[in-house]
Amino acid sequence: SPTSLLSLSFVFPQGMAFSLLERQILGIHGLLPPKVETQDIQAMRFQNNLKKMTDPLQKYIYLMGIQERNEKLFYRVLMEDIEELMPIVYTPTVGLACTHYGHIFRRPKGLFISILDKGHIRSILDNWPETDVAVIVVTDGERILGLGDLGVYGMGIPVGKLCLYTACAGIRPESCLPVVIDVGTNNETLLRDPMYMGLYQERDHSQAYDDLIDEFMEAVVDKYGQDTLIQFEDFGNHNAFRFLRKYREKYCTFNDDIQGTASVALAGLLAAQRAIGKPITEHRVLFLGAGEAALGIANLIVMAMMEKGMTQAEARNKIWMYDKHGLLVKVSLFDKDINNQNICHMPSFLDAVNTIKPTAIIGVSGAGRLFTSDVIKVMGTLNERPIIFALSNPTNKAECTAEDAYTLTDGRCLFASGSPFGPVTLSDGRVITPGQGNNAYIFPGVALAVILSGVRHISDTVFLEAAKTLAEQLTDKELEEGRLYPPLSNIREVSVRMAVKVVEFVYSNGMAFRYPEPVDKDSFVRSTMWDTQYDSFLPDTYDWPAVSFSPK
Ligand code: NAP
Ligand code: MN
Repeated sequence: SPTSLLSLSFVFPQGMAFSLLERQILGIHGLLPPKVETQDIQAMRFQNNLKKMTDPLQKYIYLMGIQERNEKLFYRVLMEDIEELMPIVYTPTVGLACTHYGHIFRRPKGLFISILDKGHIRSILDNWPETDVAVIVVTDGERILGLGDLGVYGMGIPVGKLCLYTACAGIRPESCLPVVIDVGTNNETLLRDPMYMGLYQERDHSQAYDDLIDEFMEAVVDKYGQDTLIQFEDFGNHNAFRFLRKYREKYCTFNDDIQGTASVALAGLLAAQRAIGKPITEHRVLFLGAGEAALGIANLIVMAMMEKGMTQAEARNKIWMYDKHGLLVKVSLFDKDINNQNICHMPSFLDAVNTIKPTAIIGVSGAGRLFTSDVIKVMGTLNERPIIFALSNPTNKAECTAEDAYTLTDGRCLFASGSPFGPVTLSDGRVITPGQGNNAYIFPGVALAVILSGVRHISDTVFLEAAKTLAEQLTDKELEEGRLYPPLSNIREVSVRMAVKVVEFVYSNGMAFRYPEPVDKDSFVRSTMWDTQYDSFLPDTYDWPAVSFSPK
């Protein structure tokens, strides 16, 4: 019957690892092969199967299946091999998975709220089985990675991001809630796709959309409390800034595309500054793209420069942006008010580089290989150690490859990308490991700290602190290898240390509201972290002394 099918799929959350006693007590004895299997053997089977697969999308589907059937095993394998598997669960493969979401769909994950549900969001939240949600990642699917509008197919992104909250920072999976808000899509291909899973309508950008997001925010707080962390992800540019401004003082919220990206990019610059030995205040930064990422990063660079004694105007004078219209503009940060006097028409990005003579170029346009060989070579002529960040995702949108950046500058450049590139061997035999400016270095650690300390509003200074902490964690040896970020394999320890630093920071700056303040922050953070050891399913059983029941 359908009910027994349903229950069967929930009976074995740890597969054959149930002990004989558990099997007997739970009434599942005989439903599993006789062997009581350790998690080690299960992990080995899982890893062997993964190794046999060559197609990343196939690996994604397999991994997501294990996440449903045996969550602890999934996280164990993900954590053990995070360098290899993060590109599957997250960018770039998650982009492919979103593009094909309706075609590879097995079972729903996360909560779907549509504009037709207006007035009923609170009751939809009540349908979610978990009552103790601490973090929500929400998207409306309008700008998924650099792939554009994918409508509800964007669900892959909140799901993937939340996997990293757990894998990198030990945030309990059941306290994480992925949400897609469906207000339609302007993606013509999807609107004609019979497999599409959202509303077949153009995106609603009327007042009704704003009201829906307002209702969502209120419903979340009503259900899960004022300190629920709500991360906005992959919203269209205009809405991302609007909602951040509107909600940042009212809710515990941040936008990872703006603020998380800013933090990880600044950390890369701070590490590069360590390698070059030139203070951040002496850099000239030219952005390709003037969107969420660019404005977020620029804002945080300005804060970092001001901390070193510059005025805001001086700091802003160090930053330029080249956008789609071929305009070289100085922007009034965060407002993107382009003031006519500051506009200068430039036929190409190369012209912009030649004019501005930047020490760093940062690509965040999502428009593909726009750091041409000429651009890279000019950067190499202008600077002994040029900084070249090709941050657009996924891989085919990156402004240049790691190989191009290193070979065209004789290995002198300091390179980071958004999606991973492997090590590059130069003609003289040197091997350089490129940095991956992966937001996953920032958001899990920051989120863990925010949740644990009862932070009510997340100030940009928190992201500045996180960036500094990340850059400090890079060893001199790693810096010599060309790295700008610690190895991904170490990300859990990196996140924990960041969380500890951020907890210290928010308590000493009056932003923490959980009292009493923990004395030993390190053990406080570590003690809360979720791990992948199987739970016992046995009831708490014990004996009473017989003597208590014998009359005197
Ligand atoms: P966004 O807000 O849409 O910004 C894109 C910007 O690039 C806009 O200013 C756009 O101009 C401009 N642009 C588009 N095509 C261009 C072209 N051909 N030449 C020059 N400028 C062009 O998007 P976003 O959130 O900033 O993200 C941009 C990219 O950064 C995405 O690929 C994303 O995956 C990547 N990203 C990477 C990281 C990371 O590595 N950690 C983090 C976040 C984002 P208009 O506004 O006029 O269209
Ligand atoms: Mn994003």
